Amino acid sequence: MPYAARIEPGTRVRLQDHDPADTAGLDKESGKARFAELNAELDEIQEELHAAGTHSVLMILQGMDTSGKDGAIRGVMHNLNPQGVRVESFKVPTDQELAHDFLWRIHRAAPPRGQFGIFNRSHYEDVLVVRVHELAPEKVWRARYEHINRFEALLADSGTLIFKFFLHISKDEQEKRLHAREQDVAKAWKLSAGDWRERELWDRYQEAYEDALSRCSTQAAPWYVVPADRKWFRNLAITEALVERLRGCREHWRDALEEMSRLKLAELEAYRTLRDDSSR
Ligand code: AMP
Ligand code: MG
Repeated sequence: MPYAARIEPGTRVRLQDHDPADTAGLDKESGKARFAELNAELDEIQEELHAAGTHSVLMILQGMDTSGKDGAIRGVMHNLNPQGVRVESFKVPTDQELAHDFLWRIHRAAPPRGQFGIFNRSHYEDVLVVRVHELAPEKVWRARYEHINRFEALLADSGTLIFKFFLHISKDEQEKRLHAREQDVAKAWKLSAGDWRERELWDRYQEAYEDALSRCSTQAAPWYVVPADRKWFRNLAITEALVERLRGCREHWRDALEEMSRLKLAELEAYRTLRDDSSR
């Protein structure tokens, strides 16, 4: 059983069917050991992705405030080669961004071949916060699910391997984490009165998430529900989902790398032959 639930296209998602505190029967110690193994494999996978340069990976992180988007980025990526990884954080759109279609700022941030791209929030905010706060008319945000599916299909057709992770925390866990930020001076910089305001809209956000996950999980760009009340399990579940799917590409990348090596060696040999001939 995979640790994160992959949403099959066309399924109606009910978040209450997913336990945010799930640990698949693992304790923290064995979970961390499993994580270390998978994380080492992810490191190798990223090296091959980077060197082969035939595909890119896009990992999208969404979740309520305090769900651990930043923590997941630190935890899952800490072993990877920074040269091949890029993180993009999407905030309230600027005036310039608002003057374009909602995917304009997203598309230009999409990872090029060879790169591992991470979105900390994404175009999904345009059917989440925009819907909950009525920042656009319903007609506008409703049309976006289809735009999103087509956009992601375009990326996938162009060699981008897409993973969308919803970090699922419980309302109680969020309260604990918000209070913890107040008590810990080192974490207080993260405090925001806005987080408490958003919390009052919890149910409307859950509903908006259920719609986004139900309407936009496709074969090429699936959504995963990640149990995120336990930080160690959250990191394990994300890493496992990445490795399980990317492992299938390794043979292709290794073939591409072998082919490249053959060409480079042949080039070198040709150069030496030419050099030796002319010095004779
Ligand atoms: P944080 O992730 O805590 O740095 O906060 C970023 C803020 O930007 C969140 O409150 C998001 O809801 C908000 N945000 C991101 N994208 C959009 C968007 N397209 N429209 C409106 N607000 C957004
Ligand atoms: Mg925040």
